[in-house]
Amino acid sequence: MSGIDARHLVSASAMFSLEVQQAIHRAAETGTVAIQGLGVSRPVPHFDELVFLGAGLVRRPVEACGEGCKTNVTLGTRHAQRPIQLARPITLAGMSYGAVGYNAKQTLCLAAARSGTSLTTGEGGITDLERQSNGAIIYQLTPGRSGLHPDDLCHAAALEIVVSQGARPGGGGLLPAAKVNERVSQQRRLPPNTAMYSAARHPDWLDADELSLKIRELRELTDWQIPILVKLGATRVAEDVTLAVKAGADVIVLDGMQAGTGSSPSVFVEHVGIPTVAAIRQAVEALQALGLHREVQLVVSGGIRNGADAAKALALGADAVSIGTAALMAIGCNRPIYNFDYHKLGTEAGACHHCHTGRCPVGITTHDVQLEARLDVEAEAEHLQNFLQVMTLEIQALAEACGKRHVLHLEPEDLVALSVEAAAMAKVPLAGTHWIPGV
Ligand code: SF4
Repeated sequence: MSGIDARHLVSASAMFSLEVQQAIHRAAETGTVAIQGLGVSRPVPHFDELVFLGAGLVRRPVEACGEGCKTNVTLGTRHAQRPIQLARPITLAGMSYGAVGYNAKQTLCLAAARSGTSLTTGEGGITDLERQSNGAIIYQLTPGRSGLHPDDLCHAAALEIVVSQGARPGGGGLLPAAKVNERVSQQRRLPPNTAMYSAARHPDWLDADELSLKIRELRELTDWQIPILVKLGATRVAEDVTLAVKAGADVIVLDGMQAGTGSSPSVFVEHVGIPTVAAIRQAVEALQALGLHREVQLVVSGGIRNGADAAKALALGADAVSIGTAALMAIGCNRPIYNFDYHKLGTEAGACHHCHTGRCPVGITTHDVQLEARLDVEAEAEHLQNFLQVMTLEIQALAEACGKRHVLHLEPEDLVALSVEAAAMAKVPLAGTHWIPGV
């Protein structure tokens, strides 16, 4: 080290890390706000910080080889004549045609129908694939209104009013011009190759009182047959859930900050909303305060990756979970093939979050004919069915280990936390103690 003081050979500043420096350079050079797909990239508290207390002498496990543990769930029992019956407590989240390509939409439709679960349309209206699907299709009413048509309401198993979504609570959507091909432009009634910025709030109602009128209107349009869901990005959860339920929601869809997105400003994805694990108990307590927990069902989404995450969400009081990013991964997102095309995007398999570019290497979030042809609909539908089945078996295994005969019998008492932060957020004891911080 001749002549060099080793103390000066430091790595990048913790404050101005390499990523922060790159972001500043990019903003300075382009003058544009950074956009990203997929979801939050930095670590935030999540379900990994919770573990189950299996059975022992105090609780006895349920034998899996006997009757086992049931998994069926019904959504929308509060008012609807035809609630949604699900074979498993897992639904497929809203992924719009536009954000994903036609083959991906077809894959999701097939897998949902064959797995006895529901698929939500996402912004941009209902596609012919969804109209013809044998499965339960939940039709989203988003602030942007793109592709919305009143005639389509009757094709749906339920309606979902999107107040906000976890990846960008308080923000509108963006469909980049690269993803508005001829078919998407017809579906959304947009000129081709034109970026679509959708509204952050609904044009026809402003507050909870007007939301209640909107829900009433939708019920009458659909003859009180189908459930009305209200989707909320997780922010002021207790207050928002209370208002949505008082406005008449049958089901609350609660979307934490780890939720996926096809294309959103990075500043929203990384810095707005609260983690899913912190949101669930607030929602459950709001429902309990209204005396409506389990009568108004709670569907939780935002970073659900496997059966363990789902089982923990159920134990905290959810009735079902919804998966988006994990479903896309099951059908090939970030799969290490076509590495050359990942490199062209400046990334590699396993680190790709470039859905907004319209150049998805595995053919999911693209409308490019050659790229889209890489997605084998039948094979990937089977992969997603397998994944849903594995998740269900994992939830069952955990519930049986906790002595439950139905997955909805899981409860907060079955969980402890591995960190003080997770204990405070999930309101379960720190492992090895009876201490719940703040309670
Ligand atoms: S592989 Fe495709 S779907 Fe997955 S993050 Fe990249 S662009 Fe998006």
